[in-house]
Amino acid sequence: MDKRITVLPGDGIGPEIVTQAVAVLDAVAQKYDCHFTYDFCDIGGAAIDRTGSPLPQETIDACFASDSVLLGAVGGPKWDGLPGDQRPEKGLLGIRKALGLYANLRPARLFPQLATASPLRKEIVEQGIDFLVVRELIGGVYFGEHKTENVNGEWVATDSMPYAEHEIERILRAAFDIAMKRRKNVISVDKANVLDTSRLWRKVAARVAQDYPQVTYTDMLVDNAAMQIVRNPAQFDVVVTENMFGDILTDEASMITGSIGMIPSASLGAGTRGLYEPIHGSAPDIAGQDQANPIGTILSAAMMLRYSFHQTAGADAIENAVQSVLDQGLRTGDILDEGGVLVGCAEMGQAIVSQIKK
Ligand code: NAD
Repeated sequence: MDKRITVLPGDGIGPEIVTQAVAVLDAVAQKYDCHFTYDFCDIGGAAIDRTGSPLPQETIDACFASDSVLLGAVGGPKWDGLPGDQRPEKGLLGIRKALGLYANLRPARLFPQLATASPLRKEIVEQGIDFLVVRELIGGVYFGEHKTENVNGEWVATDSMPYAEHEIERILRAAFDIAMKRRKNVISVDKANVLDTSRLWRKVAARVAQDYPQVTYTDMLVDNAAMQIVRNPAQFDVVVTENMFGDILTDEASMITGSIGMIPSASLGAGTRGLYEPIHGSAPDIAGQDQANPIGTILSAAMMLRYSFHQTAGADAIENAVQSVLDQGLRTGDILDEGGVLVGCAEMGQAIVSQIKK
């Protein structure tokens, strides 16, 4: 296997965590006889400083020329004063849109070694938390028409939430395909008691479900889903939902698993090329101090192997190595618990590399 990966370290802790993820990919390449070539490009604040744009054309071109993209994080106080359309985050939204990445996958998985980090009660945590939220990423209210107008002397704001059938169908198919590789259970989350987009969503979901007879499929209202995630998270395997509901539910789901430093994500489109990144931001408060937890980025690299390169053995090796170093008690500051051994970003990365090489 020979793959080209565009690496976008970004800002803050981005370069530190990405360095460790690349070292882990190299260890996998060595062990499983693959070859990865990396193109390092700028995005976000780093790109603004160098070119004036958060997403230079050369970065977009490199992403299109590659098999997948690994990203650190963007943003920081240095660029906070810039107008909205010139801010670092624009680079991130821009690259997702440019690559047509409509499916965002976020695992909510509690590592048993970190169970005490969950804010949920012990008896709920003991049931196990291991589900995946599949969020529609480039449609709905975030991409609909936004307007604020003066009507009879007062301001009225409107945000429209359009969804076309094909947009709903492709994200549902992505969710059902993934469920086939997991515990074969899909819960589709909507607000069909109020919204037309949700009623259409439900119709399409029921139709798509017919093509996956082995998958158990249920609809759930979003308000109920928000409750169930904290009440009984063990019931979920794959949750599929539209953009804004997914935005909110994925943050809730990440909270119940403990540190955001541990959580990877994948954004996928029609082809095999994906964008893989941890869910956290650039953590300017700890940037450059070798304190960041690189595991979210390292597990994002594992998702890249699994979903874009179909290199299951390599993905499993990374995930098992992460389990092993947690078993050994190694902890970065964000996940440090009683009895844990405090390590820095580089040492955590190197421990995972050594584990893979064993
Ligand atoms: P953040 O996720 O960067 O940090 C929140 C808290 O979590 C901080 O205390 C930070 O130190 C800690 N943290 C985050 N990642 C960590 C890790 N890997 N290891 C250890 N601790 C970690 O969120 P924020 O502070 O709200 O935002 C900081 C900047 O990041 C802002 O400019 C924001 O716009 C940007 N941001 C970027 C992304 C992205 O690139 N995808 C996402 C969210 C925020």
